[in-house]
Amino acid sequence: MRLVLLGPPGSGKGTQASLLKDRLNVAHISTGDLLRAAVAAETDLGKIAKATMDAGELVSDELVLQLLEDRLGEPDAANGYILDGYPRNLAQAEALDGLLERLNQTIDHALALIVDQEQIVHRLARRSAEQGRSDDSEEVVRHRLTVYSEQTAPVAAYYDRKGLLTNIDGMGTIEEINERLVKALGH
Ligand code: ADP
Repeated sequence: MRLVLLGPPGSGKGTQASLLKDRLNVAHISTGDLLRAAVAAETDLGKIAKATMDAGELVSDELVLQLLEDRLGEPDAANGYILDGYPRNLAQAEALDGLLERLNQTIDHALALIVDQEQIVHRLARRSAEQGRSDDSEEVVRHRLTVYSEQTAPVAAYYDRKGLLTNIDGMGTIEEINERLVKALGH
């Protein structure tokens, strides 16, 4: 099974993707995690991406697509995957379709977590305190939410037009939300 998980920063995509990955026995592919690993390893790509990420902007589509293509080629992705944080704008959604066509693959479902804004700001403030991620300061969080509504929200409409989108209530406990996702997938 190949899934796209959509939702604003702080909507719990990463948490839910980890749970689903075990349930479905597929790979969890987070472009944010791949980018943070590149930054930590100080690769050329990581060096380019760091300032952009710290500003809450999107890293260039070409760089992220390359990172994704490499990751999709790894053995654990052969059984399926959950994309978390990709695609993040319409150009990436189209690039993904192009890549999948070359790989002779299709996306089975796109699931969008719906969480209210107040809850998001609260969750990210807590994550900032717990994990100290360099892009979780209040100002950058606000900017990431703007980038989300301008660039990423249209991606849900893109999958809706293809008949692949299910909106999931992202409020509640981790277990409750996981149940809803599993149910939406018919598992
Ligand atoms: P969140 O969803 O909480 O913003 P992520 O870990 O998904 O966290 O992303 C963190 C940052 O990594 C983004 O603000 C952006 O700079 C970069 N990033 C992640 N995925 C992409 C992507 N698909 N395209 C461009 N930039 C990305």
